[in-house]
This record gives sequence, C-alpha cells and structure tokens, in this order.
Amino acid sequence: MKKVLITGGAGFLGSHLCEKFLAEGCYVIAMDNLITGDMKNIEHLMKLPNFEFYHHDVAKYIHIPGELDYIMHFASPASPIDYLKIPIQTLKVSSLGTHNVMGLALAKKARILVASTSEVYGDPIVHPQTEDYWGNVNTIGPRGCYDEAKRFMEAMTMAYHNHHGVETRIVRIFNTYGSRMRLNDGRALPAFIGQALRGEDITVFGDGSQTRSFCYVDDLVNGIYKLLLSDYHLPVNIGNPVEITIKEFAEEVIKLTGTTQKIVYKPLPQDDPKQRKPDISKAKEILNWEPKVARAEGLKITYNYFKSLDQYNNVPKEFNTKN
Ligand code: UDP
Repeated sequence: MKKVLITGGAGFLGSHLCEKFLAEGCYVIAMDNLITGDMKNIEHLMKLPNFEFYHHDVAKYIHIPGELDYIMHFASPASPIDYLKIPIQTLKVSSLGTHNVMGLALAKKARILVASTSEVYGDPIVHPQTEDYWGNVNTIGPRGCYDEAKRFMEAMTMAYHNHHGVETRIVRIFNTYGSRMRLNDGRALPAFIGQALRGEDITVFGDGSQTRSFCYVDDLVNGIYKLLLSDYHLPVNIGNPVEITIKEFAEEVIKLTGTTQKIVYKPLPQDDPKQRKPDISKAKEILNWEPKVARAEGLKITYNYFKSLDQYNNVPKEFNTKN
C-alpha cells in the first residue's frame, strides 16, 4: 500500500486529493495548520483506518515516522483576500514549507508533487498561457506574496531535482471550483453563489471584461494524479481552457440560482489579471488528460453543495466583497 502525505489536506483541493488517494487504495496522512483549512472538509474521512490527520504547520520542521512514497504539497492560502490578511504565512508556506517538504522527500526517497499556479504567469501578456512563458509578475503588489512564493517553490523544486535527484513534479493549477471552497474566501464563484443565496447583489469587479477559465475540481484532481504517476518533471498546466468573461460568469450564476438580484460593479483590485486561459497541449500529450465536466454541469453540482450548507447566512458582511 502506497503511503502519501498531503499538506493542506484539510483545504479545498487537499481534501479532494485525500479522497482520490484513499479511493486509489493509498494510506493518507493529511497535514494542515487549519489557518484556511477546515476539519469539516475531512470529518467524513477521520474514522477510516487508512487515514490520519496531523495538525502541523509545514513551515516548521516536519517529522513523519516510517516510510513515505508520495508527498503532495498543497498547503497555502489561495485567494487574494487571504493574501491580504496573512501575507507572511503565505510567503512562508511556499518557501520555508517547500524547503521542509523537499528535505522530507529526500530523506524518505519519496516522489513529491508541488501545487504551483497560473499566478506564476502574473498578468499575462502571452495568451493562452504555455508552460514556457516566464510571466509578468509584480513582486511588490498585493498578489506578490503568493506569486513570488510559488515561483520560489518551483525554483526550489528544480534545485532538489537537479542537485539531489529527488523525483519531483510541478503542476500549475488554473482557476478551479467545486465543493468545499470557502464561501467567504472572496473568490468569484463562492462570492457570486453566496450573494445569490443571501439575496444580495452580485459584485463584479471592474467592467467584468477580464477573463478566466474555470475547471471543475474532479477534472483537476484526475489530471494531478496522472501527473504524479508520469515521469515528467517539468511544469504542466492543468485547467479547463474554456474561457469566459467574469460578467458572463456572473450572469450564468444569476441564471442558475434564479436570483432576482442584479449585478453591481465595484473597483477592479490592483494587478487583477486581464485574461487567463491555460494552453493544455502538454497535459494532453504527456498525460493523455483533458477536462470532461462542462461548466453548466460543474456549476450545478457546486451550487447544490452550497445550497445544502446552513452557514451561508452567517458569512460576515465584510467578506462579501474585496473592497
Ligand atoms: N471577482 C469579481 N467579484 C467578486 C470576486 C471576484 O468580479 O466578488 C473577479 C476578480 O476580480 C477576478 C475574477 O473575478 O477578475 C476571478 O477572481 P478569483 O478571486 O476567483 O480568482 P483570481 O483572480 O485569483 O483568478
């Protein structure tokens, strides 16, 4: 039985990965300091014999007894609202934390996959984004603490691969949605759905002409799993290449939820990327992967999930918008 450590295991993506590895017959250790993760996301796994939870901050020395086959480094805040609130932790988890998980991978002779991001491309000038594009990042802007930490993480990963021969994998994750996103994390989808459920206006930032390409979480997790099992150590984009403007996206949520509220426009946050769409040729060629879940279907599943929560009424007002 393969043993895997998933950092950020109580988070949105981490908890879905825990489920995937358990379904593949692995022994899973989820690690999380619960700053943005939530035990509710893994409550249903706690009683399983193949599952363990370690409450630990990966920016501090990590001790895992016994052998380890795989490490999935998914610990990090991942929304602009979080970067503003906890910029130092955001920097530390992908710098000090990455150093710690790399040291662990070396010691255990484990294969390690790190969760990088389309944010390494910054506000991209090349469109769609290919893996060989170096990006356009503002180091000192509000997203700098996340973007630069993730870029450092990639550099650290390559150094451990080249210098120590560690088996490394780098996934660049594009916008992803699904159950267990936090309603109050400020991201477009939970913001729009939360507003619709609470009967509030839908806040579109800027004129809504900026684009994103949204991937359903199950598709993403399948792509990441394939990448881990591949023998390819350079970065691979995983995301859904179907591009949409944020205004159109808000309109889709309005239609789906049947809300009678309207769109209100708020100022565009600084350094908000104008366009984003992954070129997934590499993932198609190397992993034989492409997304399968259409946005209409994924949005419906996600909306039903949020509707089933009773907490959407309790979201503090200040989290409803970024401004
Ligand atoms: N956005 C918006 N209204 C909101 C939250 C986000 O218009 O209430 C916009 C945001 O400015 C960005 C897009 O939606 O252009 C996607 O934002 P998100 O935070 O989900 O992801 P990221 O900007 O990191 O891609």
